[in-house]
Amino acid sequence: MLARATSRCTPSVVRPLARSFSAGPSFEMSDEQSAIKDLARSFVKDQVIPAAAEYDRSMKFPQPLFKQAWELGLVNIHVGEEAGGLGLHTTDGVIVAEEMAYGCSGFGTAIEANTLASMPVILSGSEEQRKKYLGRLTEAPIQCAYCVSESGAGSDVAAIQTRAEKKGDEYVINGSKMWITNGAMAKENGDGFYFVLARTDPNAGPGKAMTGFVVDASTPGISYGDKLINMGQRCSDTRPIFFEDVVVPAENVLGAEGNGFKLAMGAFDNTRPPVAAGAVGVARRAMDEAMAYAAERKSMGVTIDQHQTVAFMLADMAMKIEAGRLLTWKSAYEIDQGRSNTMYASMAKAFAGDSCNEIVANAVQIFGGAGFNTEYPVEKLMRDAKIYQLYEGTSQIQRLIISRHMQTRGSGGLAP
Ligand SMILES: Cc1cc2nc3c(=O)[nH]c(=O)nc-3n(C[C@H](O)[C@H](O)[C@H](O)COP(=O)(O)OP(=O)(O)OC[C@H]3O[C@@H](n4cnc5c(N)ncnc54)[C@H](O)[C@@H]3O)c2cc1C
Repeated sequence: MLARATSRCTPSVVRPLARSFSAGPSFEMSDEQSAIKDLARSFVKDQVIPAAAEYDRSMKFPQPLFKQAWELGLVNIHVGEEAGGLGLHTTDGVIVAEEMAYGCSGFGTAIEANTLASMPVILSGSEEQRKKYLGRLTEAPIQCAYCVSESGAGSDVAAIQTRAEKKGDEYVINGSKMWITNGAMAKENGDGFYFVLARTDPNAGPGKAMTGFVVDASTPGISYGDKLINMGQRCSDTRPIFFEDVVVPAENVLGAEGNGFKLAMGAFDNTRPPVAAGAVGVARRAMDEAMAYAAERKSMGVTIDQHQTVAFMLADMAMKIEAGRLLTWKSAYEIDQGRSNTMYASMAKAFAGDSCNEIVANAVQIFGGAGFNTEYPVEKLMRDAKIYQLYEGTSQIQRLIISRHMQTRGSGGLAP
């Protein structure tokens, strides 16, 4: 159709391009991506899914699963070869992240917290810093944590109060962080580290006031509070972290003093795509569970998937999962091409996070009363899903980023 229509309009220009039109943009995975997806999927099926409900009940950190995933090469896949890693792309990371979250998104979050905490080191670390800290991640199945939020400053990162005062060749950090994923694990499971954002200039604006540090978790003066009992993703470890006269050598500054805000926010361009992929994974699991149940459960003489209202709920799920994945892949692809993906990463996270919440709620609906109790997995999925609208920037903050982008760049920026 396209070839006929265009040949009437502008034959000389368009006809030579007809072959590439028919090829279209590619949505194919490479052989390597298919292989890593298959590896992650079979690990999740054999190891993660059978263990997920018990980890949810016990709220224990899934270190045995983490170790197995690490041994398979499914953790820290973004760490470069110079530090012993695979150096894979964001596009590869989102493929793995979707699979992990399909099995247990609490476990997926534990893995992605390593991605988040190590990203400032990858982006801004010196060669020595990268070898030292990223090298630890490839030497042993340890955790690291991204310490930015504070009890009074989540969306408003510019309002953080943690201070780092320069004294000679050292900085002294005082303050506390809140809701830190892998917070205790970074300290307890080996030679872990923290990315810490602290205020180094109390008088400057956010663009210059803060500095990012990579800090050994074993440094004296660092402690953590009780594990927070969250609504969902309960095996993931979320804690307050306290810094009391924590002495950090100046060589642990990431990039330059004063560029911490940019660094902390820049990490999200790389990590929001895998978070969005996690939301897609949870949504896909909910859809699969709901489809299987709807094909068995009968009412009014037919299986409930024969009722149009139920069938259409499932159709809506499929549409939104597909759209969320495409947006996620697009956001990953853009950064892998070396282009700014900030707006796409926000679109992917907001869309996938919001639609995941709609999908899990409808999955519970399809299960009826059975969906409301822990005998079936959709109850856990509904609790797990909520966080995708909250961490790494709430859905409102993603819309703020998208709208500001549109205001400064115009809607033309959205043309393909
Ligand atoms: C389980 C979990 C794990 C987490 N892991 C980490 C971690 O590893 N490291 C870390 O640093 N942080 C982490 N966080 C913190 C998380 O990033 C923040 O909770 C999140 O950014 C929201 O901040 P807040 O809770 O202070 O909410 P607030 O900023 O107080 O927001 C409250 C409400 O107001 C809305 N709002 C706020 N400002 C605006 C605005 N300008 N425009 C429109 N709406 C607005 C928000 O969308 C939200 O609905 C985690 C949180 C949780 C719950």
